[in-house]
Amino acid sequence: MVKSIHTAQIEWNHLGLPVAHQFDDVYFSNNNGLEETRYVFLTQNKLIQRWQQKKWQRFVIAESGFGSGLNFLATWQLFSQIDHTIAPYYLHFITFEKYPLKKGDLKQTLSHWPELNHYAEELLYSYPEIFHPGCQRLQFAEGRITLDIWFGDIHESLNHLHTTEQGLVDCWFLDGFAPSKNPQMWSQELFNSMARVSRQQATFATFTAAGFVRRGLQQAGFNVQKVPGFGRKREMICGQLSPTATPSTQSAPWYSRPINTPTQSVAIIGAGIAGASVSWALSKRGIKHSLFEQETHPAQAASGNRQGAIYPLLDDSQSPLSDFFIAAFCYNRHLIHQLEHMGYTIHHDWCGVFQLSYNERSSKRLLRLANANWPDRLATWVDSAQASKLAGLPLEYSGVFYPLGGWATPADIARAMLNASEKSGCLTSHYGYHLTNWKSDETHFELQFKAHPTQTFSHIILCNGHNITSFDTTQSLPVTPVRGQVTHLETNVNISNLKSVLCYNGYMTPALNKSHCLGATHQRDQYHKALDQQDTQNNIESLQRCISQPWNQNISPDNSVGRASVRAVVRDHLPLAGPLPYIPELIDKYPQIHTPALKQSAPALPIIQGAYILAGLGSRGVTSAPLLGEIIASEITNTPQPVNQTILDALHPGRFWIRRLLRGQPVQKQE
Ligand code: SAM
Repeated sequence: MVKSIHTAQIEWNHLGLPVAHQFDDVYFSNNNGLEETRYVFLTQNKLIQRWQQKKWQRFVIAESGFGSGLNFLATWQLFSQIDHTIAPYYLHFITFEKYPLKKGDLKQTLSHWPELNHYAEELLYSYPEIFHPGCQRLQFAEGRITLDIWFGDIHESLNHLHTTEQGLVDCWFLDGFAPSKNPQMWSQELFNSMARVSRQQATFATFTAAGFVRRGLQQAGFNVQKVPGFGRKREMICGQLSPTATPSTQSAPWYSRPINTPTQSVAIIGAGIAGASVSWALSKRGIKHSLFEQETHPAQAASGNRQGAIYPLLDDSQSPLSDFFIAAFCYNRHLIHQLEHMGYTIHHDWCGVFQLSYNERSSKRLLRLANANWPDRLATWVDSAQASKLAGLPLEYSGVFYPLGGWATPADIARAMLNASEKSGCLTSHYGYHLTNWKSDETHFELQFKAHPTQTFSHIILCNGHNITSFDTTQSLPVTPVRGQVTHLETNVNISNLKSVLCYNGYMTPALNKSHCLGATHQRDQYHKALDQQDTQNNIESLQRCISQPWNQNISPDNSVGRASVRAVVRDHLPLAGPLPYIPELIDKYPQIHTPALKQSAPALPIIQGAYILAGLGSRGVTSAPLLGEIIASEITNTPQPVNQTILDALHPGRFWIRRLLRGQPVQKQE
């Protein structure tokens, strides 16, 4: 079963302000909550003074309890008013919320602050539509403001937050209902976790002056000061992490993602949706980089299909795979909106995706999935009558419907991200550059190109699809090339009514420019791009075999017939995202780690320092790539990750070898 997030039960007091039924407490003071926020959190954390110290490029605030987002919006407003030539350019706001407000309640609450309208509207537009444990990342102001909302209990979220020895957080807004109303949250465990993920000299402020909170924070390593409280409150506390406190990471050494040397010069290889996602994510952190692509334009390989289905890949219970794809799916929807907001055209339609139970096996699997209790807006079971209505065409099957899913043109997303990167001044693009090999020493990577001079970089990020394994250092990565041919189907009076994406043994999309995509064949270890007539026939027959309906009997390809490309597939359906393991040393020298004693003494996994990979996106790159780009860029810049440690471990490029070592099995070159 899947853990659910319950929304806040709101009652409205005599002033029309929200009161949380679960806690019997107000979200903010009856006596001007906005001014209270400014005094308690912004002023007592000395934000303006600290921002003017010129030492920050990105400033990270963490908050206990997002509530109505008032603290976030007030901070965003302040941040937008300062001079960014002397203050940080990027604001990263992490917040933890156990009982999120429903959107309607949020809207009503925020209507109290007309001066925050501009910010509130943007937040409301992007406010998560699905509440699921874990992080949902939102970005505003062309990526300069990042908001990570971690749904679930703050203790659990902090326990699974990925952090490094340098820490992550510069400032804490220790909010939450009054300690007397919410004693479970104000725990020593929370204060210790705050210290653990804080950066040197992080500050905190809280409205309460309760003795046990003061002592708990001191015990965790904060220097604490009492100052006058807001309005009628006599006192509140604020303070700073003592210089002797040291942040610590909880990740296992074999899954560690080591802190990087400064990113002097970064090269991305590949301008498909993976490379474009990394590029845009780096640009949103102000990191200058070069991109090399062997083709003459972006998104010419596996990202070049006209329409790709977007929906989360779910297990029949909560798992790192489902959690990753939910986060990626939500981020993708948000990103497309952001790119459109910036003026880019992205062909897409959130028309819903329907997965049919077209045979016994798929029926069993989808029933298990539907019974797992996923939020209805994410995935819901529909019978054949409902399915036919939703799809706009008669269907004989029941199945799972993803109401927020749909399709998009992957190349539009890739081009928009690359254009935005170029516009930010961070990206320099090189097309017609075929990387033939690369070498590394302690500090640099030497990149060798066909017909172009060698270039050197401090970091390299390989995003070159199934070609990822074409280098000495990467050839044993567990990535399989799989050729896929899609058929472009001319629409006709029968099939033009299709309203949502249909997934069966293949998939069929609603028409774009009078043509549907019908996909795709699945041919391991095949590479040819020429269209194969038999494959076209197979795609058509697969539709007719799985869905036996008169509407799909007279169908034929349009003039272009279709398109073939090679996808890179990993057998556990999760991509490889992170540091490139140094495979010979991993195999020869890394210890077996199947006993507690061996685990305790294990060193960090050998990696090629400065080399990263983003590979194995399979046919789901259009859904997963944008969040994966954030993951890689967060890692390189040591900024907060949008997924928890468990998901990061599940994406680790060395995981297949590590799992064998953890089971005490011998490792081999090819995993
Ligand atoms: N900062 C908010 C704002 O700007 O509107 C107000 C926060 S409100 C006073 C407290 C919030 O903390 C509520 O939304 C509540 O659901 C959340 N909360 C309480 N206990 C929590 C816990 N253990 N983990 C995560 N969130 C919690």
